[in-house]
Amino acid sequence: MIPVGEALARVCAAAPVLGAERMTLAAALGRVAAEDVVSTRTVPNAANSAMDGYALRHADLGAVPARLRIIAVEPAGAVVDATVTPGTAVKLFTGSVIPDGADTVVRVEDTEERDGGVVVRSAPARGANIRAAGEDIGPGQVVVAAGTVVGPADLGLLASVGRATLLVHRRPRVAIVSTGSELVEVDEPPGPGQVVNTNAYTLAAAAREAGADPLVLPLVRDRPEDIRERLAAAAGADVVLTSGGVSVGELDFVKEALEAIGMEPVFWRVAQKPGKPLAFGCLRGGLVFGLPGNPVSALVCFYLYVRPALRRLQGHRRLHLPVVHATLAEGVRKATGLTEFVRVRLAETREGLVATALPAQGSHVLSALGGGAALLVGPAELDRLAAGASYPVIVLGETTLARETPPF
Ligand code: AMP
Ligand code: MG
Repeated sequence: MIPVGEALARVCAAAPVLGAERMTLAAALGRVAAEDVVSTRTVPNAANSAMDGYALRHADLGAVPARLRIIAVEPAGAVVDATVTPGTAVKLFTGSVIPDGADTVVRVEDTEERDGGVVVRSAPARGANIRAAGEDIGPGQVVVAAGTVVGPADLGLLASVGRATLLVHRRPRVAIVSTGSELVEVDEPPGPGQVVNTNAYTLAAAAREAGADPLVLPLVRDRPEDIRERLAAAAGADVVLTSGGVSVGELDFVKEALEAIGMEPVFWRVAQKPGKPLAFGCLRGGLVFGLPGNPVSALVCFYLYVRPALRRLQGHRRLHLPVVHATLAEGVRKATGLTEFVRVRLAETREGLVATALPAQGSHVLSALGGGAALLVGPAELDRLAAGASYPVIVLGETTLARETPPF
């Protein structure tokens, strides 16, 4: 049995970064860039107006109000062939190119147009309301660096420099194998002693949420040769997830089956609760996680170990879930020697975040992980977590911290 920190370090060390594929911009959202994109363009490509107004010479505003003659009108998208000379102005709009001779734009609100001329009522500073060429991007500038998690602004930047595609790391293919003779599929009512295969759903969804492409394989009974056959079929995936059959029971054949088809074991059993029986190894160039069958254990192990591996495969540099610190509302007993991931709800109070442990902490109680639950980390050496003390809490998803009240 190894400590959680060591287990996680071994998983991260074993996960390689996958190769790259070229995607259109619309399909690249959330992917990790596998190339530095260098601009050959200047953005904006010419000095232009930040306002609807008049381009003029600041020297003409020595005394305001000042009256200037309008020599041209330049809508956005058009470029007039006019030079602003003393006593003249060009009427323009947001985005219009600044004509030669002008050094300042006066916004329309500070003017009045009359008889082919404009009266400027107040003078802004010299250079006001002009956006310089290249203020956003210059030639040679890296607009998206390798390793960037591509967001909406990055996609816009790529478009602005004329790049319609981006090289990104590919998504891992994840094969999901649920084992257990007691399991039935969702459309079958479970008889006595049977349970619905929920892990296939939680794990596939969690894999998709982590950016992977899940493939759910058919259920396998607790028969060594069936398990071996199914795992051999799954082994081409970048990551194989099994659920069930990895503890020390007589019917726990998964580890043996994995070793029989060539898995190199990295560890088995982690000093944690839930999820102690977790097994991890390398299989034919991919990774394999033998997740415990209990639904909470399987999903918690996914969040803690599988998710970081999936993120590393996709080229992410930030592999781990966010952690906040919260005050525990009521004391919780725990097992000494095991790091415990207590299912809690977070509430925002004036004094900061408060974590309340959910009443049912059994590893079969999946309802305790639904609806924005979080995982409070109880250190291995403690036998109880004190009310009023502050503990790290792992945030499992955006909903955990999303606010009901507006931020302003
Ligand atoms: P195991 O790890 O195989 O000993 O299973 C532990 C517990 O998890 C048992 O109560 C199983 O019925 C349950 N379990 C195993 N696999 C699944 C699954 N795919 N979906 C839901 N529960 C499961
Ligand atoms: Mg089982």
